[in-house]
Amino acid sequence: MKKKIILTIGDGLGDRPCKELDYMTPLEYAHTPNLDRLAKTGATGIMDLIGPGIPLGTDIGHMILFGYAQEDYPGRGPIEASGAGLSLEPGDVAFRCNFATVDEAFNVIDRRAGRIRENTHILANSLDGMEIDGVKILFKEATEHRAVLILRGEGLSANITDSDPKKIDGNTKYKEVLSTDGKADSIYTANILNKFLLEANKILKDHQVNKERIDNGKLPANFILTRGAGIMPNIPKITEKLNFKASCVAAEGTVLGVARLAGFNPVSHEEMTGNIDTNIELKAKKVIEELEHSDFVALNLKCPDLMGHDGKPKKKAEAIELFDQLIGNILEYKPENTIIAIAADHSTPCEKKEHSGDPVPILINGPGVRRDNVERFNEIDCGHGGLGRIKGHEFIWTLYDYLELIKKEGN
Ligand SMILES: [Zn+2]
Repeated sequence: MKKKIILTIGDGLGDRPCKELDYMTPLEYAHTPNLDRLAKTGATGIMDLIGPGIPLGTDIGHMILFGYAQEDYPGRGPIEASGAGLSLEPGDVAFRCNFATVDEAFNVIDRRAGRIRENTHILANSLDGMEIDGVKILFKEATEHRAVLILRGEGLSANITDSDPKKIDGNTKYKEVLSTDGKADSIYTANILNKFLLEANKILKDHQVNKERIDNGKLPANFILTRGAGIMPNIPKITEKLNFKASCVAAEGTVLGVARLAGFNPVSHEEMTGNIDTNIELKAKKVIEELEHSDFVALNLKCPDLMGHDGKPKKKAEAIELFDQLIGNILEYKPENTIIAIAADHSTPCEKKEHSGDPVPILINGPGVRRDNVERFNEIDCGHGGLGRIKGHEFIWTLYDYLELIKKEGN
């Protein structure tokens, strides 16, 4: 019977010894019966996503975990645009945006338009589909005051500056977009984007949604600030390249964006919050459902990362215990032919409150998987595991080989 794989990703799972935990890591300190049971009957190791001592973001971490190379990273813009639900084509230039408030002289009054939450889809619709000098504008709202923009046309470049001034003091104008390399394609792209910003302002300032906001004493969302330009490379979806079906269950737009770029079916729900109050029963149920029509299902749990950023070891241990329960729920319903793998996209040590280049623990358990002598799942014990210390692409290739997706070398 053909095997299937569930890859559960504890976001920012790896850590360093914490004084508050008597120099254990949160993962060593946490009570994790399900993870330990899997360690006892499976193969473990530690993994450097790209290489030892190289910290990386959630976006590139997940790209590597899904089978891409470091060079394939398209930048934040394309990933966020994909996460918001836009499909990108090679050559598209994508941006992360804010709805913002400017005055008559284009001074930025509020970078988030009073943290607008309502009716941004109506405002976005009024900009989506515009054309400027033959370049098509795709525009979509994202969470709260955020939005995404795609420029689609011939000869565009992402080597341009942000229009978002980032720091404002009441007398700060939005930044006119400039080429960063002085080449013709980037000068052209900057010109198109500058025209769009003014055109968008014209449309938004008289929009009914904003008239109502002003009447209600709220700041109008009358300007679009752009940042993080990235060009979509001509890379195949990993699911098409290797010919398999995959899904990704996650709460965070970034993870879902990477999943969509990779050709994975993105699955989310409002009860998956990305925080410690997320609905783990629902997440487990979705994983099992997706397994019916997918060969590979990835699952992300965000909260260990958040607790690492907060610098709270005991809270991080609690988040890890939630990860363990989530895996327990999955194991209860997991079909017999299914391999379960555990990994992380990076370490987020409480000590650093940021991502670090420390390796993360990994585990593979299921039919056909070797069993090593490790009995607990954590950064230290897994260092003695049968998988050794491997790189991210070696780990995912190992998993894809269990699915028989990797061609034999030689004859
Ligand atoms: Zn992450």
